[in-house]
Amino acid sequence: MTDYDYDLFTIGAGSGGVRASRLAAMYGARVGVAEEYRVGGTCVIRGCVPKKLFVYASEFGHAFDEARGFGWSAQNVSFNWRTLIQNKDDEIDRLNGVYIKNLKNAGADLFQTRAALKDAHTIHLADENRDVTADKILIATGGAPWIDTSIEGCDLGVTSNEAFHLDAFPKHVIIAGGGYIAVEFACIFSGLGAEVCLVYRGEDILRHFDTDISVRVHDEMKRHGVRVITKTVFDKIESLGGDMKRVHLSNGTHIDGDLVLWAVGRKPNTAGLGLETAGVALSENGAVIVDDYSKSSVDNIYAVGDVTDRVNLTPVAIREGAAFAETCFNDNPTQMDYRSIPKAVFSQPPVGSVGLSEAEARHRFKTVDIYKTNFRPLKHTLSGSDERMSMKLVVDGESDRVVGCHIVGPDAAEMIQCVAIAVKAGLTKADFDHTVALHPTSAEELVTLREKFRPNV
Ligand code: NDP
Repeated sequence: MTDYDYDLFTIGAGSGGVRASRLAAMYGARVGVAEEYRVGGTCVIRGCVPKKLFVYASEFGHAFDEARGFGWSAQNVSFNWRTLIQNKDDEIDRLNGVYIKNLKNAGADLFQTRAALKDAHTIHLADENRDVTADKILIATGGAPWIDTSIEGCDLGVTSNEAFHLDAFPKHVIIAGGGYIAVEFACIFSGLGAEVCLVYRGEDILRHFDTDISVRVHDEMKRHGVRVITKTVFDKIESLGGDMKRVHLSNGTHIDGDLVLWAVGRKPNTAGLGLETAGVALSENGAVIVDDYSKSSVDNIYAVGDVTDRVNLTPVAIREGAAFAETCFNDNPTQMDYRSIPKAVFSQPPVGSVGLSEAEARHRFKTVDIYKTNFRPLKHTLSGSDERMSMKLVVDGESDRVVGCHIVGPDAAEMIQCVAIAVKAGLTKADFDHTVALHPTSAEELVTLREKFRPNV
């Protein structure tokens, strides 16, 4: 027990902050939490959860077509954007309530206000105009979409935050970026019926993924009607009156649309938090610099989640929050293990990926064996769709360990969660081969890949 008001005060009630706060409270700490917007954070309020609901909505666009091959006929099918938004908002309200209840049930005090540090142990609660003190402070304020403000007319574009609340469904969407958010929103808007043009500065979208993935997703997006312009950036955005905008591109052309979406990355949310005053060191892009136990340069101040710009994914923030609570409130020093974190892009078709890409493996190991397959899933023999499934195993030739798995196709994200267990456990290709296939599934290919891939030379 300390003389401070709280043993732990957490700023930011997103995935990482809530997990850390709940666990610390369960371990007996007196915990206060401040949140300036809505409890649940980016993932629940304006990220993964509403995004996935939009993805489900957009998949029906193709599903109605594909159902015909199975004997269904669906006439007068129409889509209502307002219904989707309302139902999505209701679900987010419900989850927001669950998060608040969970925090309170754990015994934490929740302050719905902006909070900032006055010094290393004092937090100012803006709306209440008072200070509270804490022994330990956890910064879990996440990240925020970044916009290139050097571009004239940049304010005419919106970010993913606003894309979840558009009053009207756009007819022509122009997206800047080639990462997770750009690709996912391109597929969502396209699946729901909009014309979509994605403008990416590099050569291959999703460039942090295995090359086979980037190429497949790029091709599939084009097949679904998304226009992808590479090696190009926005030069200027101008209003054409009403909702219409014109985006001037660096290749000398322009595109007109009623929605311009910035998806060029996110930045850690540290501005105005008083971190510098408290002596907390920040990186060049504003992230809190932390050690392996999520401790900042100030002994009693910690940070977890996107605000530290390590691996910016919800389950990682949750694990970091849990490790922090174990370390500081359960006398059990715990580090987050960043190896073999599964990743998914909810594009159409979706991507699931874990471990090393082929290029990374070739850099690391003397010999690398590649096993790949590309086939038409059984469902599409009747659906009429020419969508294919791609799978790739990356194997260290010396130890026979499967060090990477990359899938593009229906249910890829669901599959990769299970494959991640095997990759994380260090299982070998022989272990995969010894596993009996489950038939008829697409996933069975993962245990029946026999021929090493040899590129045509
Ligand atoms: P990403 O880092 O995935 O992608 C940013 C994109 O913007 C890249 O294509 C990048 O190009 C491009 N870019 C960056 N700066 C500029 C610039 N100045 N001009 C033009 N283009 C630029 O960020 P997102 O915003 O898509 O997503 C943020 C993070 O959120 C992700 O990294 C991920 O961690 C998380 N996320 C995860 C999801 C999931 O798990 N399914 C879904 C959504 C987000 P280049 O590739 O050349 O660097």
